[in-house]
Amino acid sequence: MAQIRVEALEKSFGNFRAVKGADFTVEDGQFLCLLGPSGCGKTTTLRMIAGLELPTAGIIRLGGEDVTMNRASARDIAFVFQLFALYPHLNVRRNIGFPLKCEGIGAAERERRVMEAARILRISHLLDRSVSGLAGGDRQRVALGRAIVRKPKCFLMDEPLGALDTEMREEMIGELRALHDRLGATTVYVTHDQLEAMAMADVIAVMNHGSVEQVASPRDIYDRPASLFVADFIGSPPMNLLPFRGSLEAGGRTIRLGERDVAIPAAREAQADSDLVLGVRPEHVRFADRGMVRGEIYGVEYLGTTQIVTVTTPYGALKARSPASISFRTGENIGLDFRPDTLSIFDQESGRAIRTALHDGGAHG
Ligand code: ATP
Repeated sequence: MAQIRVEALEKSFGNFRAVKGADFTVEDGQFLCLLGPSGCGKTTTLRMIAGLELPTAGIIRLGGEDVTMNRASARDIAFVFQLFALYPHLNVRRNIGFPLKCEGIGAAERERRVMEAARILRISHLLDRSVSGLAGGDRQRVALGRAIVRKPKCFLMDEPLGALDTEMREEMIGELRALHDRLGATTVYVTHDQLEAMAMADVIAVMNHGSVEQVASPRDIYDRPASLFVADFIGSPPMNLLPFRGSLEAGGRTIRLGERDVAIPAAREAQADSDLVLGVRPEHVRFADRGMVRGEIYGVEYLGTTQIVTVTTPYGALKARSPASISFRTGENIGLDFRPDTLSIFDQESGRAIRTALHDGGAHG
């Protein structure tokens, strides 16, 4: 297995920059998810790593070696697509063994490796079946079998679960992660689904409009979003973002929100009087009679164990997650409070975080 390193990677189609200076490293054996909305450049980035697309600029290293100009076939990478590109006229055994046959590996060794892949994927009983009659999950297992049978240095996967129904997808998320843990293969996985990324990744690279906005663990992406885009993209519902005008002085412990001073953790950066955005996750909004913000309950969305309460405030609508056992009345006037150590602050103009929640070992829970 091998480390994948992407350095200042660029791809333009005519005048359109689909990937803008992407920089990230997937350590040997790591599972990295490229996550972002449709059209943000995930697939293009993956295809460049695979050698299916030539970068306009930048470097791709595989195990330290510069492979930027190497053809796909010379990269020792396995690609798994959303659409299971299986050969309908071949049975499961032959589909899985196909890449080995192309490499000229003999029948006995081929059979041994196909059996091993099938055992890992728990599809040994399907080996003689036609792939055309298989259910979606099993078809995807066969596609995975074809990828793992070659024992490549890295796996690249482009929305491999996108075509499955919800139940099958949830099952396959667990299986894919278990497969990764077992094989220890360096993996880059493209998805637009944050739940998939959160559940599977060691590291998530969030992309937006061709740029990588943040590369971090799922927990850091959630707790310490590096930009307004990440704060808004991750979480369901996403982080509440309240615009305000204010100053952060070095070492300051409060910011002014309307008529109130809001306590924050010790300032990390000084900031002149400017347009800022306060970020707070719904689960960190507390109901308190003497809270720093007052508002009116607009609606309540019941989710079983919790509920999402939407409150209109002078700073805009705010969502709070509360235990489902508490009852709220629409139209009720209510006070809201935020736990200082959970607040994020962003610069409105650059969109970048100037203070991130739970930073520097701030209190959790
Ligand atoms: P999706 O999940 O919808 O596939 P994505 O994040 O994978 O989105 P890409 O497929 O990488 O996005 O595409 C990024 C942008 O580049 C899109 O605007 C797309 O239209 C454009 N693009 C991709 N391939 C080409 C091409 N061959 N020619 C011109 N534009 C392209």
